[in-house]
Amino acid sequence: MSKNKIILVSLLFLFLTHCLSAFASSEQRITDIRFWQSPEEAQVVLDLSQPPRVSEVSRLNNGTLSFDIKSCIFKPGKQRYALQNQFLETLTVQQNEDSGSTSILFRVPRGVEAKTFVLPSNERKGDRIVIFLKEPQANILKKQTAELNEVKKLKAENIKIVVLDPGHGGEDPGTTCNGIVEKSYVLAMAKLVKAYFDRDPRYKAILTRESDYIIPLEKRREIAERLGADAFVSIHVNWNVKKAISGIEVYYESPKGAVNEADRLVADKENKADFASLGVMSPVITASKNQIAQMQANIMDQSRQLAEKVEYKLAKALPTIQSRGVKRAGFRVLHSLNMPSILVEYGYTSNKYDSDVLKDYTSRTKLAQSLYAGISNFLQTKVEGGVDAEYLEYYKAMNAKKAKLEAEKKKKAAAKKANTKKNASKTKANTKTPKKYTVKHGDTLSAIAQKYGVTIQAIKTANKMKKSDVIKSGQVLIIPGK
Ligand SMILES: [Zn+2]
Repeated sequence: MSKNKIILVSLLFLFLTHCLSAFASSEQRITDIRFWQSPEEAQVVLDLSQPPRVSEVSRLNNGTLSFDIKSCIFKPGKQRYALQNQFLETLTVQQNEDSGSTSILFRVPRGVEAKTFVLPSNERKGDRIVIFLKEPQANILKKQTAELNEVKKLKAENIKIVVLDPGHGGEDPGTTCNGIVEKSYVLAMAKLVKAYFDRDPRYKAILTRESDYIIPLEKRREIAERLGADAFVSIHVNWNVKKAISGIEVYYESPKGAVNEADRLVADKENKADFASLGVMSPVITASKNQIAQMQANIMDQSRQLAEKVEYKLAKALPTIQSRGVKRAGFRVLHSLNMPSILVEYGYTSNKYDSDVLKDYTSRTKLAQSLYAGISNFLQTKVEGGVDAEYLEYYKAMNAKKAKLEAEKKKKAAAKKANTKKNASKTKANTKTPKKYTVKHGDTLSAIAQKYGVTIQAIKTANKMKKSDVIKSGQVLIIPGK
């Protein structure tokens, strides 16, 4: 994003924040208006004091989009904010004195697509209306193609592509503690690491985000996959309720995370559509589950080697910050089948000592340089083509467990079916049609009842006999079914 845009966005933000007035808290009000922007899309967030009643959102028509928030106050009169950027020309917020509603009107450049969502409050955020503004798909594809062509040229010259992923961003700040806001800290850190790669002609480093906006986790991975990255490194800082916990951690994919991902890839047809929209023909589309597991085992072994090389350098970076070692976890950004992927946690913001080191400029530079050195070491060493045996064992065990559970389920279902059949035939036996019996000389009711396996009372009832009635020779009795 250009500096101009940043200033413009900041100005709008300041202006809007400044404009907010304190109104009675019982009424619906717009408490804040925020704007986030990535190279491909933007978000306008209207923060509200309570769940809004919104009129039908008009379709984007001739570059305008509008809706009313009922019984809502903002600032008296009409406010017009001119952004004049690639996603949004102007935003007008008008409080209508007569109806008590507030009208929102967006004017967007030609081709921009818009989607509006009313989001309920959660434990972190209040009620919101979010408007997503997206660049025309054709523009996005054009940019992606140009980028891909450039990367292809570089790859032909044996220049390695490193994708650095600053975690969180925009609406998601990550951890916030001891004066460190994760999303900003890791962005600055990723830029420092990139600067080391930029000075080295053997590499081209690309960031998944270059300013303050959110990217879905899968998309971060897909950016790297689309560019055919040689390594993918997600950068974070950690937090723990136990303030004593400190140190650096380097993660790569866990067996459990990989098994779940293999299941998802097989089950999730949508995933194919995602790849298709990026113009990438993923080998996943045609691979069987066992083939996917094999690919995972190969790439996870490379990820382990990358993690170990990076951890080695980071552990030696500073005597003041300890390494907690290489670990495994099923982070979604690490699920790639195409490139070695790791996630670095640069210490704990919840730990006073770690956070002091992280904020120190010299220490930060050393930590950035060590990450660069670790990645470079991995990329310049011939990677041994191994497999993650631990994963393949886990995969086999999990499949055996699943097969066993499936067999037990089938057995239970079969037993249930057989039982139902048995019960049904029993019921049929019980509902046998009544028989007739002609009483012979010397017969007693109890003997007849015993013969047919019914009670005396049942015979009496079936024949409408009174308590005192007796049977006579030649009398025809109805014998009820059992
Ligand atoms: Zn994080």
